[in-house]
Amino acid sequence: MAFSQEFLADRRRHLAAKLEVTIEATEREELPLLPAALRYKEDEHIPQIISAIKRIDLGTYGTCFDCENEIPKERLLYHPHVERCVPCQKIFEAKEKKSSF
Ligand SMILES: [Zn+2]
Repeated sequence: MAFSQEFLADRRRHLAAKLEVTIEATEREELPLLPAALRYKEDEHIPQIISAIKRIDLGTYGTCFDCENEIPKERLLYHPHVERCVPCQKIFEAKEKKSSF
């Protein structure tokens, strides 16, 4: 395990706070259906936040989706919901831009 339990617990608290739900609620299976989360439709990161909490529980949090390297701790501190390291995120966004034309 690359990240300390303390770090992961802290990130989990942060993510849960973003959803304005309690830690207890995020531990339930029905998390994606929580009305409290769905009220925040203006926050486009909701699916990523929910997914990040699940990755913390699964023990895969902080691993880049594309290159599978560890995402730097500093990045996770600023953006706890991120799914990619900076280089992969740039490639991903460049691809998304292209495909939208
Ligand atoms: Zn990467």
